[in-house]
Amino acid sequence: MVDLTPLGERLAEVDDRIADAARAASRDLSSITRIVITKFHPASLVRELHGLGVRDVGENRHQEAQAKAAELADLDLRWNFVGQLQSKKARQVRAYCQSIHSVDRDSLITALANDEAETPIDAFVQVNLTDDHGRGGVVPADLEAFADRVAAAPGLRLCGIMGVAPLGEDPRPAFAALRGLSERVQLQHPEASALSMGMSGDFAEAISEGATHLRIGTAITGNRPDHG
Ligand SMILES: *Cc1c(COP(=O)(O)O)cnc(C)c1O
Repeated sequence: MVDLTPLGERLAEVDDRIADAARAASRDLSSITRIVITKFHPASLVRELHGLGVRDVGENRHQEAQAKAAELADLDLRWNFVGQLQSKKARQVRAYCQSIHSVDRDSLITALANDEAETPIDAFVQVNLTDDHGRGGVVPADLEAFADRVAAAPGLRLCGIMGVAPLGEDPRPAFAALRGLSERVQLQHPEASALSMGMSGDFAEAISEGATHLRIGTAITGNRPDHG
């Protein structure tokens, strides 16, 4: 038996549940990327996760993410930005992130676009499935036209869509809706097959609806430190 830390135990337990859900859905585990969301946790925890084999991590605030990425530059981590992003910070986020899951405004496309980029950044279009427009994300009716503009922007690689299931209800209908929207986008952009959905409380349901990228925080990291 390997002597696991509590963090290692939680990670192993989540990975077991991911594998179970994939099996139940007859899905290949290699088609699912588990991103550990490390917001509000110190860089030392991210380093510990790396030691446990984690390579994909996610953050939702630029300053915090930038500082951790700089401190951990010696590690082969892939940084995913999952939070609402101000256009004026977009250029800086490009510098340390490999993917952004929250592209949802034309001003953000413009700010992220870069003719000279050596490597394109992976862009997920965030979709808002609620009536609350303050939550970020394009409304489904605008999705296809918006995806066209992301795909046309230099230095951005449209890789798929992202969504968050509404709190306090069965997440399945929301995930099924996202899957349907993803299929529509793929009619024009077959390469945009990534589907970022599923968090600590609902990743099994997301897997059964076709999620390719899970964004899992507290189930792995434990409760977030108090952040005021
Ligand atoms: C914090 C966050 C997550 C992870 O949430 P948990 O419930 O802790 O798993 C996933 N996606 C986004 C956009 C987040 O901000």
